[in-house]
Amino acid sequence: MQPKQDKAEADITTQHKNPYETVKDLLKDSITTLNMDENIYHLLKKPMRVLEVSIPIRMDNGDIRHFTGFRSQHLDILGPTKGGIRFHPEVNVDEVKALSIWMSLKSAILDLPLGGGKGGVIVDPEELSERELETLSRAYIQMITPIIGPQKDIPAPDVNTNPEVMGWMIDEYDKLRGYNIPGMLTGKPIIIGGSEGRLSATGRGVVFTIREAAKVIGMDLSKATAALQGFGNVGSMTAKFLYELGVKIVGITDASGGIYREEGFQIPELLAFVREGRTLSEYTEAESLNNEELFGLPVDIFIPAAVENQITKNTAPAIQAKIVAEAANGPTTPEGDKILEEKDVFVIPDILCNAGGVTVSYFEWVQNAMNFYWKEEEVNQKLEERMVEGFRNVFELREQKQIRMRKAAYSIGIKHIVKAFEARGRIK
Ligand code: GLU
Repeated sequence: MQPKQDKAEADITTQHKNPYETVKDLLKDSITTLNMDENIYHLLKKPMRVLEVSIPIRMDNGDIRHFTGFRSQHLDILGPTKGGIRFHPEVNVDEVKALSIWMSLKSAILDLPLGGGKGGVIVDPEELSERELETLSRAYIQMITPIIGPQKDIPAPDVNTNPEVMGWMIDEYDKLRGYNIPGMLTGKPIIIGGSEGRLSATGRGVVFTIREAAKVIGMDLSKATAALQGFGNVGSMTAKFLYELGVKIVGITDASGGIYREEGFQIPELLAFVREGRTLSEYTEAESLNNEELFGLPVDIFIPAAVENQITKNTAPAIQAKIVAEAANGPTTPEGDKILEEKDVFVIPDILCNAGGVTVSYFEWVQNAMNFYWKEEEVNQKLEERMVEGFRNVFELREQKQIRMRKAAYSIGIKHIVKAFEARGRIK
């Protein structure tokens, strides 16, 4: 395929639907559908606490540069708030607020005793040296230390953060507190209390939901094809497990560009390639592909595994897939979603699809509290049980109420949170 001017990318960068507005609309809509008291909406619409921090860092050239970071805590009525920290140039307070609400819903759907939290720093980590990145990671955690902790709010990795960054952060926190507190964050290296299976958990969970969706719509995965947007932790792990199920992944894009191969990629080979620190655009044994072309590929499954606002009114019309599995958080705008609905696409909503990450984070936190660690098979099996049950609960409500998967997922999450409000006597 010929690379051409990427209209889809232009659309993505100019449109910017505010994800906080999106999530509020979705909450309101689900509450109306459930015939619930409108006051429930007012209880859920705002995070209980949002902190903005300014982080001065001495750069390698001696200059001081200020970075801005946030931590949003949505609701802690089911348990401590929990959610990742992202490093991205487009982080903003409304995005972090929306992401913290999505975390609350994910945990509620999967019946985890946790609330929703999220953090972010406005930074392009590619522009920082390793030392600058470590300094920033440590300084950010220092700044949010007063509001986090294993019984308060538990961070984890998200876009552009990984176990190494978690290692720096927990080290800083432990130094400040004066002793080791492994349960203060999750997604850390295994040697210092991380869980087996955490690194692959989100992708593994995504594929469990795709497997369940394929069953209910009668798709044979061993004959299916897929296109994938994003090849970071979540995208690459999703690719690995789909490949193991026999799905042919024919198109993949990442921030550097994209690749296409009609007969499907040898995913293990591609994983080894990117593990060497190379990007997809450097992979020469494939035709190149841009984002616009990715959306239009004639595949059975389309998986956005990058950032928000990718499936929009401009990109959705090209989608031919029967299943859209939202591995990313908030990848579909309301307008894009409407188009998917008109096309009768089976959408596995983000708050269900990518909940495997926080589920194994929960297992990590539990293991930290016990100071006793499970083998990977045990973690994976527990993850599968939770994901399958979560999927079935959402699917059942969809069937019962004849609503879409997204609305069913929101409804289940909201009802679960409302029960906790009731149990605490905060609503009658
Ligand atoms: N960042 C992941 C998410 O968006 C995982 C959060 C966690 O493990 O706490 O779900």
